[in-house]
Amino acid sequence: MNRSNADSHIAVLDIQACLGCGRCVDVCQTKAIPPLIGLYSALLEIDKNKCDGCGICISLCTQEAIKLVKSSP
Ligand code: SF4
Ligand code: SF4
Repeated sequence: MNRSNADSHIAVLDIQACLGCGRCVDVCQTKAIPPLIGLYSALLEIDKNKCDGCGICISLCTQEAIKLVKSSP
């Protein structure tokens, strides 16, 4: 993931696919993913104001539950 892509994309979580393993929470350096993910995943979403689109969480998710989408302007 290069910076130009990171600047215009954010991660979104598919709560149907998420197993709540917490790996994404641990690796997110901007703390954009709430730590209670899994327990209350239906109520939570990745904080679009904190996510920089680095993609690290996506590479670690075994469920392919996180995707990058184009951020709104
Ligand atoms: S790594 Fe994937 S399965 Fe695990 S909590 Fe994050 S989104 Fe859910
Ligand atoms: S893409 Fe990067 S900054 Fe955004 S939620 Fe995933 S690990 Fe955190």
